[in-house]
Order: sequence, then structure tokens, then C-alpha cells
Amino acid sequence: MDRLLVLLVSGVVILAAIFTLRPILLRLSQRDALRKASQPLPRQWVALLHQSIPATRHLTDEQRVQLLRSSRDLIRTRRWEGSGGLILTEVIQLTIAAQACLLTLAMPGEPFPGVREILVYPRTFVPRHVCDPRKWLQASEPQRPLPLEGEAWGNGVMVLSWEAVREGARNPGDGSNVVLHEFAHELDYERHLTAGLELAEFVDGAAATMVPSVPDPEEWRRVIQASYERLSERIAAHTASALNEYGGTNIAEFFAVATETFFEKPVQLAREDPDLYAQLRSLYQQDPAAVA
Ligand SMILES: [Zn+2]
Repeated sequence: MDRLLVLLVSGVVILAAIFTLRPILLRLSQRDALRKASQPLPRQWVALLHQSIPATRHLTDEQRVQLLRSSRDLIRTRRWEGSGGLILTEVIQLTIAAQACLLTLAMPGEPFPGVREILVYPRTFVPRHVCDPRKWLQASEPQRPLPLEGEAWGNGVMVLSWEAVREGARNPGDGSNVVLHEFAHELDYERHLTAGLELAEFVDGAAATMVPSVPDPEEWRRVIQASYERLSERIAAHTASALNEYGGTNIAEFFAVATETFFEKPVQLAREDPDLYAQLRSLYQQDPAAVA
């Protein structure tokens, strides 16, 4: 009986301690997060952003600082690794992180919670395996893996070629940007942006019931599907488009290509497909065509 009483009293004391300490611990961790967020950014980062990533030139000064802060978070909180002999540098990490975080600039919460590891190769690499089940659906998919510039595995690992990253960043008007492309796939996985659209029912029955995390999922689905079909028709008719032909591969590739085009050829995209442009503007909360 005495033992039971001791146990009960100890339990009450422990619970009381937890309740008393919890707000203090919470405040300490919030203060730590605030302290980290308010640490000054390296001075050379702003210049580096301006020189190396012209796709960020449409941002306001405030947005640029915000972009650099979330880039720093992505650099500090994920595992980065140079592969194939590449030595990782701050320039490499920032060039990747800043372009990736451009996509999540207006989205609340930490950028890309699904990514835990970023592997960077010096040049194109041969994929070890393909995790995106959608890729198996393509009849034209080569049997033997071809060298790639980047790959979002959808299992927390992002693989990129530094050569392709640098080229993509350097030419902001050609509609081709491997970081925007691969991180758009990641965003798609995380927010189910193309779930339930074209071919998805063959992949996973659950995909059809997933709802895209956008303000108006119905309208989003209608526009993305219609734009994808229009691009497929243009490709079949050999008609030029602001969107790269690769977007006709499947709906997931269409979304990744549309994202590259939105940031790199915004005026052409807004002219060719205003509905698609409006949906992407509402998703990314940015209007690159307005300042292009
Ligand atoms: Zn892709």
C-alpha cells in the first residue's frame, strides 16, 4: 500500500514538473530558433545570389533576404554530400538551395520537409535505380538507365549534377533549369499536385483520392490536365510552344517543365497559356512575368 502511495506521489510530482517546465523549454527552443533565424547572413551571399542566379532578380529585397534565410535552413538541416569526386563548397550549396527555395518562398513551414539528403555529382550521372513509379509507365522508357542531370527519388534523396545546376542557373531565359525541375517533382510528391491526374490510377489507387494542396484543387486539376493535353496536341502537330516537349512525357513531367517555364520564360507562358500561368502564380505566390 505504501509502495502504491509512493508511486502515486512520484507520478504526480513528475507530471507537475513536466507541466511547469514545458513552457520554459518551449520558450527556450523558440528563442533558439529565433536566434538562429536572426543571425546575420554571410555578406557575400547577396552578391552571389545576384550574380549566379538571375532567376531571382524579380524578387524584392525583402523576398531576397527571406530566400537566403530559407536557403540557409536547407543547407544546415539536410545531409549534403559530394559524390563522384566532387568537393562540396558553399557556392554549390547556395546555388542549389536558393533555386530550390524559390519554389517554396511563399509557402509556410520549412522548405521541402520530405528531402533529407542532397547528393551532388560533378557532371551527369547514371542513376542507380528509379524510384518514381510513374517513370516505369512510359513505353519509350529506355531499358538501360541513361546518364541524368538530376533526379528526385521521392524517398528523401535528391541527386543533382553540379555542371547541369550551374548551366541551368546561368541561362535564366532558356526554360531549362534542373534544380527547379527536380524540386518541382519533390513539391509534387509532398503536395500531391498531379495526383489523380492522367495515368495516376495505374500507379496507385490511393493517388486518385489524394487532394492537391492548393487553394482550389478542382480548378487546379482542370487547368493542369487541359494544359497538358494542349501541349500533347502541339507536340503531335509539331507546333512550337514555350513549354519544352519533355513536358509531354507524362503529367508529372508536365508540372516540372511548367514550373521551369514559369520562372524562366514567364512572359511567353503567360501569353501562350494564361490559365496555366495564373494557377502557377497562385501556387508560387510570385509573378515573374510582371517584372520580366
Ligand atoms: Zn522530371
